[in-house]
Amino acid sequence: MQTIGHFINGHTITEDGQTQPIYNPSTGEVSKQVALGGAKTIDEAVVAAKAAFPAWRKTPPMKRARVMFKFKELLEKNADEICRLIGEEHGKISHDAAGELQRGIENVEYACGAPELLKGEHSRNAGPDIDSWSEFHPLGVVAGITPFNFPVMVPLWMFPMAIVCGNTFILKPSERDPSAAMFIAKLMKEAGLPDGVLNVVNGGKEAVDALLHHSDVEAISFVGSTPIAEYIYTTATAQGKRCQALGGAKNHAIVMPDADLDNVVTSLLGAAFGSSGERCMALSVAVAVGDDIADKMVEALQPAIQQLKLGAYSDKENDFGPVITGAHKSKILEHIKSATDQGANVIIDGSGAAPTGHEQGFFVGPTLIDNVTKEMDSYEAEIFGPVLQVMRVQTMEEAIQLINEHEYGNGTCIYTRDGEAARYFVDNIQVGMVGVNIPLPVPVASQSFGGWKRSLFGDLFMYGPDGVRFFTRRKTITQRWPSAAIREDKQFSMPTLG
Ligand code: NAD
Repeated sequence: MQTIGHFINGHTITEDGQTQPIYNPSTGEVSKQVALGGAKTIDEAVVAAKAAFPAWRKTPPMKRARVMFKFKELLEKNADEICRLIGEEHGKISHDAAGELQRGIENVEYACGAPELLKGEHSRNAGPDIDSWSEFHPLGVVAGITPFNFPVMVPLWMFPMAIVCGNTFILKPSERDPSAAMFIAKLMKEAGLPDGVLNVVNGGKEAVDALLHHSDVEAISFVGSTPIAEYIYTTATAQGKRCQALGGAKNHAIVMPDADLDNVVTSLLGAAFGSSGERCMALSVAVAVGDDIADKMVEALQPAIQQLKLGAYSDKENDFGPVITGAHKSKILEHIKSATDQGANVIIDGSGAAPTGHEQGFFVGPTLIDNVTKEMDSYEAEIFGPVLQVMRVQTMEEAIQLINEHEYGNGTCIYTRDGEAARYFVDNIQVGMVGVNIPLPVPVASQSFGGWKRSLFGDLFMYGPDGVRFFTRRKTITQRWPSAAIREDKQFSMPTLG
């Protein structure tokens, strides 16, 4: 059976040591093994990245960008293989994997603008014959730790930007679906990236801890669940590292009485059940304002949900596939049961789903739960499965308060035809990414991505302009060329440049 190793200094490394099985979630079978790197492997990668840094730092941004142009071309050329690897290990259907890849490619395209992004800020004549400017310097060796649910897109949020900014990078992908990340790292080499600039170390907690405690790692970019994000942030910053750690979510859609119901139903289906609900931007709670719209929405959702096609990643006619592991499936089923036990109405229960020919796969069917209240465990938790919960409130204020009181603040959306209500919502909601009639308001690559509250630990969002700031360090230079005419006398008061 194939073992996925590491990619260090331009070479694939397979070494004896601990491994962990990788499942094909569509069949429930073990398809490969992944090596679990520890402190020694991390150190090898850091040594390679540190050695590559001086030359890469000096490489002009235009030349770094050329690698990204070529990389984009290679990602497009190899799209089918990348989507197959995503599907085989994650389970998402090929059209969904293609969407993930496309959103990742857009971050590569943004990174192609490196010469523009890194040109700095200049103030001519900041004082008499004095010029002042800011430069954006790379940090050195930086690392990215990524979750299972976007095995290609999330790594592409991180390493293209870090690398065009002049850093060298170590990626630690999810141990549950590492092959696609390994594949694209090798494409970077094919695109002309010097060895050591991008390294991949596979593994779990041991590899992560080694990165967090390595004195030559300057910054950590993390995406994953909230408890781990908090651990990464507190540990990395205690070690003096720069850190951004994006965590979990519970995304609510407010459905106003004037919303276009057909649009609400069709867009909720994709946003709640697409990718089996395993998206940090999945809309998992629909908050209906008024019982009238709630009843109509629940009634309209039922036949639409019954028609959804669940099955293996390889059949592109399917709407969504399995969840990532058997253990995760059990957790989702427990949430559905607890909602029932605590008094919610489970209208459609996907617990017993088993598509023909794939009975051993990790499938959960689309589930619709009505009359959920904020005290219920299934409301508090991030279920991360194909479960849509409906809550009923009487006013928009009540809906906003509900969302603002939730510990997560990643994404949200309002469905309405009323511009004034939408503007009020946008202004008062305590959430980082907000949609108005847009169910998945994932920012484009030229903006930046992140949540509020316990959905993000750190100061800067991911990718876009915040990505440039995260992966660079500002240096501000103030300069004058003295001549006899402007030579200064002794000066003991604070210089004012006046
Ligand atoms: P996870 O937190 O289990 O794992 C994420 C990464 O952390 C993996 O690389 C894993 O190896 C590592 N890790 C896991 N346990 C660790 C530990 N104890 N110590 C150190 N490292 C550890 O997350 P997941 O299940 O892979 O991904 C799903 C989660 O990610 C969901 O909560 C989802 O909302 C979140 N997510 C958030 C965003 C966002 O942008 N906010 C995007 C995608 C996913």
